Amino acid sequence: MPPLSNVQQRDIDSVFHPYTPLHKLSETGTLVIDHGKGVFIYDTQGNEYIEGMSGLWCAGLGFGDEELIDAATEQLRALPYYHLFAARGTEPAIELAEKLKELAPVPISKVFYTSSGSEANDTQVKLAWYYNNALGRPEKKKIISRQKAYHGVTIMAASLTGLGPNHKGFDLPVDGVLHAECPHFYRNGLEGETEEEFTARMANSLRALIEREGPETIAAMIAEPVMGAGGVIVPPKGYFPAIKPILDEHDIMLIDDEVINGFCRTGNWWGAETHDMVPTTMSVAKQLTSAYAPLGAVMVPDDIYQAFVDYTSRLGTFGHGFTYGGHPLGCALGVKAIEIYQKRDILSHVRALAPLFERRLTGLTEHPLVGEARFSGLVGGLELVADKATKRAFDPSHGVGAKVSSLIEKRGAILRPLGDTIAMCPPMIIKEDELNALFDRLEGALDEAEGWVEKEGLR
Ligand code: PLP
Repeated sequence: MPPLSNVQQRDIDSVFHPYTPLHKLSETGTLVIDHGKGVFIYDTQGNEYIEGMSGLWCAGLGFGDEELIDAATEQLRALPYYHLFAARGTEPAIELAEKLKELAPVPISKVFYTSSGSEANDTQVKLAWYYNNALGRPEKKKIISRQKAYHGVTIMAASLTGLGPNHKGFDLPVDGVLHAECPHFYRNGLEGETEEEFTARMANSLRALIEREGPETIAAMIAEPVMGAGGVIVPPKGYFPAIKPILDEHDIMLIDDEVINGFCRTGNWWGAETHDMVPTTMSVAKQLTSAYAPLGAVMVPDDIYQAFVDYTSRLGTFGHGFTYGGHPLGCALGVKAIEIYQKRDILSHVRALAPLFERRLTGLTEHPLVGEARFSGLVGGLELVADKATKRAFDPSHGVGAKVSSLIEKRGAILRPLGDTIAMCPPMIIKEDELNALFDRLEGALDEAEGWVEKEGLR
């Protein structure tokens, strides 16, 4: 390992890094990013990388977009801050809510703003609780999530998340959260089972969970159409159509977490459209502003909103809201990002590039390290396995995914290891030659990693 540069040393001396092996930082150092343009970012040494993850699945319009920068500057000049508490409003918050209502895949009446995806999902749970209290059924409070789901890191959002590292050491999940089975056919399908049979089994297992717990105790189920941080898990085609009637039958809301899926990523405006999900409410964040400012939102239909109005009339006020929820800078950027998605027809661009993305990803299943390629629009994942025939995983302590990602970085690209799944979520503005270059770098890294696996005897 080369000695740490001055800026790396200052970074690790003072910044507490999230999602980082803290005990190795003085060995690994950090990658300090200085600036970005288009799909490229540059570190403080001047090295260029294709940002194949859009940061954290969020910078869908890439870096340095002048229209977004102008919109931000204009908003900061006009009104850098105001809030929405106590019946105050701002023009950008109004305009963005109107746009979200227009775009929503189901009728939406109101938009509640937050500053992040975690806050949006926490808000969803509080709204579900408030709603059931409003209807006089205070026992209907549990929330179903799924194993491998990712819904954020606040105490409730981390509890909804179905991943070990988000629970271990934090005494989570809290009570009242149920984790249903993960609809990942490659990993959880049984020997000889078809995808249709697997889907029916997932639905039956959800029904059994609901009946075991008592439907009168369950308020909602939350689900990402494509599960992102859990490993880019794409549900079987009939999964959401199979589970929705079970939820309806038991009066359980379906909260659609569109934090990664939303805004053209899967080849439609919403992951719900691509994956036949009919939501009750929706959470959005990330590409909502193309990550140019933090913003999240919860989108609510009218019957639920009217129950809030009625209940609030009995309680006095609706007691929930964030200082920066609906920040005018975020909202102005949300309005501009949506305008850009529409006028540059980002949806058609994603659809046009998706076949190349799919072809190059599925081509990699020929590689000795790759067990499965998964994709939806321009989000994908490659699961690395020790044995392709038996799907046997590598021992996690070997860190094969992390090794591949560091080899990709050496070649000038950023992709994210989710355990031994390599995630890809390039800015949606990526051009064909840039996408091919990203895959070429990934392929080179996989070849080098295969040599390392063999040499170290990691199989
Ligand atoms: N929901 C999903 C599906 C996410 O992927 C994330 C973040 O990655 C969140 C919620 C949490 O969003 P945030 O990190 O903005 O709190």
